This record gives sequence, C-alpha cells and structure tokens, in this order.
Amino acid sequence: MADATVSHQPVVPAPTATPPVSSPGSGPRTWVRKIHGGGQVTESCPSWCTAAHLNDQGGLLDDLVHLSPEVSARLVMPDWSAGVDGQQTVAMPVLAVRIQVDPYSEDPRRSVPFASVWPWEGEDMGALDPEELGGVIGQMEAHLDYMRRVRTQLEAAIARYGRD
Ligand SMILES: [Zn+2]
Repeated sequence: MADATVSHQPVVPAPTATPPVSSPGSGPRTWVRKIHGGGQVTESCPSWCTAAHLNDQGGLLDDLVHLSPEVSARLVMPDWSAGVDGQQTVAMPVLAVRIQVDPYSEDPRRSVPFASVWPWEGEDMGALDPEELGGVIGQMEAHLDYMRRVRTQLEAAIARYGRD
C-alpha cells in the first residue's frame, strides 16, 4: 500500500565537497554575458550547476547565480484552499536544499559555494557553510529520533486506549 501521508524524494547526504548531482554529458557550460553598463564576461558553470541561465545572456554583473538541482522532502497535506472538506491534497516541500554560488557577490559567504536550505516554502536560511549545514542535519536527525519515539509511544497508546 502506498504511503498516503508522506513521500520523499531521495535525500542522500553528500560526502564533503562532493556535489549532489553531476550532469553526465553536459559538462561545464561556457557563454558570453553582456554586462549592463558596458563590457562582457565569459562565464563558465561549475560542474554541479544545472541552472538553465535562460535570462543570463545579459544583466548586471552580480545578477549571476549558479544552482544545483533543488531536492526536498514533500509532505502531503489537506489542501484547504481547494475546498472546505480537506479531501484535496497538496504536496508541500520541506527542507529543500541545493548548492549555490553567487560568483560576483560582495558577501564572502555567497561568493563561494554554499548550501541554500529552505525549511519550508518561502523561508530561506541564508548561505550555510558545510559546518552550518551539518548543524541543521544534526538537529533534524535528533528530531527524527524523537518522532520515532513518539511513533512507538503512539502505537502503545492505541493498544492501551480505553483500557488504561
Ligand atoms: Zn551555472
């Protein structure tokens, strides 16, 4: 039977300094970008970047962002906006994570590759370095352990319910 309440895209912790996804066959991409205000720059994507860069033929120098694919867990929730009965569902992304670099950023945390983590839709934790990402992972692991204990307690509570 399919798990109706929780679905996960595979989230595999990547070893240190290894990008989560390579794009076989595509290789690093290089193109010439016209800079507003004059000049042009030859840009090259890091090997892990899968951004389409459709709007990056021209722009401000610091507009450029390289992105790896975003992966999240998805929790299936009642979609109350679709009706009053909650029978429709929507898969809400949680703990979305990707690698990003803003190569021309003046912020030294963003001008080197960093983890971009969105715990839930619309909320960005900012640029996380490997140690900070490790802290988030440790916190989530501890919480998952707690949720497992709650599940065990719930099973016991159901078994005893009405007999306590
Ligand atoms: Zn790129």
